[in-house]
Amino acid sequence: MSAAPNLLPFADPGAGYRALKSEIDAALARALESGWYILGKEGEAFEREFAEWVGLPRAVGCANGTDALMLILRGMGIGEGSTVVTVSHTAVATVAAIEMTGATPLLLDIDPDTYTMDPDELRAVLEDPPPGLPPIRAVIPVHIYGQAVDLTPMLAACRDAGVALIEDCAQCHGARLDGQMLGTLGDAAAFSLYPTKNLGALGDGGILATRDAELADRIAAIRQYGWKRRYISDLVGVNSRLDEVQAAVLRVKLKHLDRQNARRREIAAAYDAALAGTGLTPPARRPGAEHVYHLYVLRHAERDALMARLKEQGIGTGIHYPVPVHEQPAYARRVALGPAGCAETAKAAREVFSLPMYPEISDEEVGRVCAALRGL
Ligand SMILES: *Cc1c(COP(=O)(O)O)cnc(C)c1O
Repeated sequence: MSAAPNLLPFADPGAGYRALKSEIDAALARALESGWYILGKEGEAFEREFAEWVGLPRAVGCANGTDALMLILRGMGIGEGSTVVTVSHTAVATVAAIEMTGATPLLLDIDPDTYTMDPDELRAVLEDPPPGLPPIRAVIPVHIYGQAVDLTPMLAACRDAGVALIEDCAQCHGARLDGQMLGTLGDAAAFSLYPTKNLGALGDGGILATRDAELADRIAAIRQYGWKRRYISDLVGVNSRLDEVQAAVLRVKLKHLDRQNARRREIAAAYDAALAGTGLTPPARRPGAEHVYHLYVLRHAERDALMARLKEQGIGTGIHYPVPVHEQPAYARRVALGPAGCAETAKAAREVFSLPMYPEISDEEVGRVCAALRGL
């Protein structure tokens, strides 16, 4: 993740640490000196503070965002003998989490403008499931790049079909839809706290949130061997805990998240303006959606050439994601796709690229990116 000299990287978690160094160092010292490193006061405080910030009664920390999804599914009793619907245009983690429970993933295509699950295709598969699959029990839409999926019709389709809706919020901490915080609209939400995410630890971490207190209690047991009482496994569980050191760091970072998301929006607005008159179109914004720009993603048929020209000018770029899940060697020809296939997903994977986006980019660096964009 470290950059070559003079190349502005597309993400820079080290800059995120340096910007808050004295506060983070104090939190680290507090956690280290406490002598208690797993599931203690820092973790409890972070869960409370995160739940309050997102606007839900309960949040449960865990080892990473993949586990957050897996724990929600297991807490809902979803596993072998169930199908879970999601998209192929996502981090492979979303699909890995489904398979970790023993459930069968069913991958739908995306809308080519917003890169998110097509709600009409979702309703169609819920009303008329593809043959040969176990019953559909849950849907995991992915709020990709920091912007809401078209959630309202999806919630209605899930309610009508009697299936759970779990929000994959790994890329959208703090984003809203019609004024409501993402993560509060479905039955439960999973957040990754990977270092480059909008809220990132200095290592791995994850947290899930829900208004269902019984579900939260069950998951809190499952994440630690199924214990409700120490050493007694009432449920079959796993080990997926958020440690005290990461929780202490995350408590610091959470206090700065809203300001940092505002800075990401400022950078995005500058990029938007620089693109006027070029052959590139700024990312599509969904009406009513407040974007938090985990990534600022452009698309172009000549992507590789554009990325090379930006690199010559010291601008790093990324691709999220170069190979869709259904074309990955471990999943290809094995994983179930919706009746329409995944043509838009495959096309997007060949054309998308991401510009530098993190709150610590300086105004001067934003200016450099904008000048390079204007010259494309
Ligand atoms: C990062 C990410 C995850 C997984 O998070 P980890 O903390 O890396 O396990 C899941 N879904 C999406 C969309 C992600 O971007």
